[in-house]
Amino acid sequence: MKLTILGCYSATPKANNNPTAQVLEIKGHLFLIDCGEGTQVRLRNSQVRFARIKHIFISHLHGDHFFGLPGLIATFQLLGRQAELHIYGPKGIKEAITLLLKLGSSWTSFPLYFHELTTTCSEVIFEDEKVVVKTIPLKHRVYANGFLFAEQPGERKLNRVAAEEYNIDICYYQNIKNGRDVVLDDGTVLANSLLTYDPSPAKSYAFCSDTKYVPENVSLLRGVTALYHESTFLHQHADLAEKTGHSTARQAAEIAKASEVGMLILGHYSTRYSSLGVFKDEAETVFEPVFLAEDGKEFVI
Ligand SMILES: [Zn+2]
Ligand SMILES: [Zn+2]
Repeated sequence: MKLTILGCYSATPKANNNPTAQVLEIKGHLFLIDCGEGTQVRLRNSQVRFARIKHIFISHLHGDHFFGLPGLIATFQLLGRQAELHIYGPKGIKEAITLLLKLGSSWTSFPLYFHELTTTCSEVIFEDEKVVVKTIPLKHRVYANGFLFAEQPGERKLNRVAAEEYNIDICYYQNIKNGRDVVLDDGTVLANSLLTYDPSPAKSYAFCSDTKYVPENVSLLRGVTALYHESTFLHQHADLAEKTGHSTARQAAEIAKASEVGMLILGHYSTRYSSLGVFKDEAETVFEPVFLAEDGKEFVI
């Protein structure tokens, strides 16, 4: 699983600070998460092939998380895209995007599907045999969801040496990897555990931005491999975080600690602070390991 940070700053874009957008590569999918202004340029800089993006997840309808979407859709059209595009986001996103397309008489010739979200409970919004995506209810100034991307449990690994020792025909291998026992010609039953190893643990990635401190989400986030949690402020500005529906670095770390996640990635920084190191320092007083999202940075999870 690979996460590419395209932008990770709050509020207005600056020369070297881009608003939120990320690309998650997971089991052959390339998911775009949020689409702040300038995202298509950031995608170009990161050499992401546009045609591979078939699913876009938008957390909420603040400009720094979705103003790049109409431009990206228009570019898809200009490039002659044929493939379906699925957009998951809060109710209203369809109206916002289709109004712009309508005013410009620039309807897409590729199928464009909107999956509008309204529930305040976690729900499965995408699932196939490899990946499942659920919403994470967030608390912000407007309706917002984070997203939990999880690999489906893999098939068991064949113990080829054991299988050959028992002279098991190769045509049974897939059944064995699916967890079945084997009955030999003499009626002996070989337990699946004699012929397989446990699969690699399924990995998961949780994206939580923008949100105030929501300890209720700990059970949903428990044990995720990597958690991205916004840390717009330091704890000296906890009152401002509460008022604006954001979190502090310490609060992000408290969520990571309580959820026993594998790693915490901070982002959505206010540009009022002199360096990013202060966010990491504050979070590390509560939880480790902590990593700082930076525009263009890749994380192999
Ligand atoms: Zn934001
Ligand atoms: Zn916001």
